[in-house]
Amino acid sequence: MDNPAMLFSVFICALLALGLVVRTALASRQIRHVARHRHAVPAAFADTITLGAHQKAADYTIVKTRFGLLELLLSSALLLGWTLLGGLNWLNQTLLAALGAGMLQQLALLAAFALIGGLLSLPLAWWATFRIEERFGFNRMTLGLWLSDLLKGSLVGALLGLPIAALVLWLMDAAGPAWWLWAWGVWMAFNLLALLIYPSLIAPLFNKFEPLPDATLKARVSALMQRCGFAAKGLFVMDGSKRSAHANAYFTGLGAAKRVVFFDTLLRQLSAAEVEAVLAHELGHHKRHHIVKRIALLFGLSLLGFALLGWLSAQAWFYIGLGVTPSMDAPNDALALLLFLLTLPLLTFFFSPLLAQLSRQHEFEADAYAATQTQAADLASALLKLYQDNASTLTPDPLYARFYYSHPSASERLARLRAAPAC
Ligand SMILES: [Zn+2]
Repeated sequence: MDNPAMLFSVFICALLALGLVVRTALASRQIRHVARHRHAVPAAFADTITLGAHQKAADYTIVKTRFGLLELLLSSALLLGWTLLGGLNWLNQTLLAALGAGMLQQLALLAAFALIGGLLSLPLAWWATFRIEERFGFNRMTLGLWLSDLLKGSLVGALLGLPIAALVLWLMDAAGPAWWLWAWGVWMAFNLLALLIYPSLIAPLFNKFEPLPDATLKARVSALMQRCGFAAKGLFVMDGSKRSAHANAYFTGLGAAKRVVFFDTLLRQLSAAEVEAVLAHELGHHKRHHIVKRIALLFGLSLLGFALLGWLSAQAWFYIGLGVTPSMDAPNDALALLLFLLTLPLLTFFFSPLLAQLSRQHEFEADAYAATQTQAADLASALLKLYQDNASTLTPDPLYARFYYSHPSASERLARLRAAPAC
């Protein structure tokens, strides 16, 4: 191993170790904080949340945070196994011996990597659904549905993923030193296409969507959308209860293909006024251009990512430092992609508080917009019901929340809504 490769190995190990220390410290803070506040409902929620619901949320949060730590340890071990311990190198050499060099071998390497990683993560995914979600009364899936989801998901992934992977690999080989710019363009076009076809082609493979049947609610929601100057292709109810008791509502699609989707679980839990307030919050994200800003950010960050990949993939130390021997007489493009995907999260983790901060700011803005279009009190009571039904803790550790939470904590959101002028 030459010097730059050795330095790179040390750098990656240091980054991995630092990430492990930070994540473990944050998770144990969260567990201790939630456990310390388990005995009493916070004063601000004393008349709305029962002690039983509060304790369920505390237990659910603690179990999930502990489980997250286990996942972290296993994924770190897997990362080392693929890279420094030689797993990826072995897989690459085996496929080279079997298939020879070329596009087929490179696609086989990507597919085998995804398949092995998917199989190794199955026990944890099973545990999360059939042990944790089940224990807290959220799981509605049978093993049969879980397996059929898995199969369908893998097929869709292969159908969409393999052609785009082939195109990117071809560009890496044939488009010259600026290939990463072309690959970025292709990747962005693919993302936009996926947004466009997801609601009508992909989502229906997994769920049933029916037009909102409740005429009163429909009239109410349509009036709100008209008031806010918002056009959508339709209002749909999704059978979310098929899989989970967790409730949600979302906008999906782009441009004219936009639609509003309510989980049936949400409609069961909220009153018409509360559903309207939740929708007004979602409309607020559009009105304040959060979606466009998010897509623009994704474009910018991906461009940085592809530029970095373009540079790294031409450095021998990038491969050798991560336990892989690059071929002298065959393209190493699939290897470069995999090594990049494996190690990039080690770096991006440290920037996640910035993205979380931006997201929380957007949530406050959407809440403020909703308070101008509907009653703030309706949004507040809807949020409270959703926090309770999803067993979200009301007492997260402040530092943990600051680092990870994409939504502000319940007490912060409700405090602002209570201060909002009535409309
Ligand atoms: Zn939101």
